[in-house]
Amino acid sequence: MDELEDFKQRVRNRVGELLKNSPEALARLEEAERIVYSQISKAELEALILIQDRLCKRCGECCRRCSPVMVSRGELENIARFLNVSPEGLRNRLNLEPSGFEDWFNMPGNPCFFLKNNECLIYPVRPQACRLFPGGYLRLKAETEGVLEIPTYCSIIEKFFAERILGFLFRSLRKHV
Ligand code: SF4
Ligand code: SF4
Repeated sequence: MDELEDFKQRVRNRVGELLKNSPEALARLEEAERIVYSQISKAELEALILIQDRLCKRCGECCRRCSPVMVSRGELENIARFLNVSPEGLRNRLNLEPSGFEDWFNMPGNPCFFLKNNECLIYPVRPQACRLFPGGYLRLKAETEGVLEIPTYCSIIEKFFAERILGFLFRSLRKHV
């Protein structure tokens, strides 16, 4: 099973467990999955960004798998100041690549260069891309590439999609009573 199918199965199990006494809802599960995995609204993404920090398990999986991280010139200067090193030296050490956007770079590395003992060494000044993960990542992919790219390893996303499916099922059942 690939990672996305495995993810969907985990979400299905969560939802199935909660709805085990509701055969009407379970009968609509396939339809709910089709909708939920094909589209997402801006409002849902904004809501996710608002709550995600409270749901984060600090597992560090995103820091091991989300390369490259986009980082701005200003963010690099902040990081250099925080580490007390020169911005040029830091840029060279990170093997930055052009991102295609002026003053923005791609920071490669799986795991991230700054991840040590599962902790971010620059946590107070980490890039915006890290602060906004995973909702910001979903939003960026949706806006720039028009795709719903799911970071299947993130437990926040698993919970979020289970709740989206439950929401869809409850709305759909309400319409039919
Ligand atoms: S993968 Fe998700 S749960 Fe784990 S640290 Fe990253 S944002 Fe938090
Ligand atoms: S900068 Fe910190 S939060 Fe961002 S990917 Fe690297 S280790 Fe993770």
